Amino acid sequence: VTRIGILTSGGDAPGMNACIRAVVRTSIYNDIKVTGIMRGYAGLLSGEYLAMDVGSVGDIIHRGGTILRTARSIEFMESSNQDKGAEMLGQAGIEGLIVIGGDGSFRGAMKLMERGIPVVCIPGTIDNDIPGTEYTIGFDTAVNTVLDAINKIRDTATSHDRTNVIEVMGRSSGHIALQAGLAGGAESILVPEVPFNIDDVCARLLRGHERGKLHSIILVAEGVGSAVKIGESIEAKTGLETRVTILGHIQRGGSPTAIDRLWASRMGSRAVELILRGQGNVMLSVHKGQLAEKNLEEAFKKSNELDMALYKLSGVLSI
Ligand code: ATP
Repeated sequence: VTRIGILTSGGDAPGMNACIRAVVRTSIYNDIKVTGIMRGYAGLLSGEYLAMDVGSVGDIIHRGGTILRTARSIEFMESSNQDKGAEMLGQAGIEGLIVIGGDGSFRGAMKLMERGIPVVCIPGTIDNDIPGTEYTIGFDTAVNTVLDAINKIRDTATSHDRTNVIEVMGRSSGHIALQAGLAGGAESILVPEVPFNIDDVCARLLRGHERGKLHSIILVAEGVGSAVKIGESIEAKTGLETRVTILGHIQRGGSPTAIDRLWASRMGSRAVELILRGQGNVMLSVHKGQLAEKNLEEAFKKSNELDMALYKLSGVLSI
């Protein structure tokens, strides 16, 4: 192998830059050239390629987003364009590809593998919703961003004796809501994996209020439904003054935490080693706390399950 390619695809996540840096530096350390492909599969098809040297990834380890930009490419869903993508990689002398993204991006990578390009997929999404891995790059930063917001909202909630409903990201998974909610001491955590009853949520709130609680935080994962509607319903049913905050895209940005930088660095470096050893066509994963390789099909299995022990604990600690 003399040249490998790297792209980021799907939603961006903090830590992707640290991973790109690790890929580029590990390659150069091993005398391999690296081509950066801009804007995911869109840039692959339009030929937006960039030669990357040691300096091209300087001063990015601490930055959110991705210097390679990212995109969702409808064209790449077509088989003829997948042929074209594989051909263009060949023409650019790219003998192995590293894809950082979510399971949609992995499906795209599979199409290139089927056309003979060795690919290593690295899980990168704040949602932590990729089956086959306990962790995805960006998740830890997103959880800490939400935690920081909860702390701030708590200050004002306590001063005003208010109930606060906070909507967080996660698509159809409740990982961000659960971890940030538990760490932030939320009274209730509503996740798509567990059905909830609004009357139970209200009863819990009123119980807390009666024993003199000055604030209540209810964390709602976006996959559950509209936090605004839930907030309105809570106010109508309990008579407690309720405010709703939708955290939105601040959860996708920010300087990556140490945990995200460390995993991103290890995964980026391992991905290069795998391609050099001829062991492509896998996804990287954190399995029982260790870096591991898995068949790509693992990412397409049933959804990444929520840690129910943690969910139960959140209920116990917020009585
Ligand atoms: P996130 O969950 O963070 O948004 P993702 O990788 O799941 O990340 P998607 O929008 O699902 O995001 O996928 C990114 C891109 O991967 C798509 O725009 C498309 O170009 C490509 N892709 C997704 N699914 C397929 C598929 N079945 N075949 C070919 N390409 C695909």
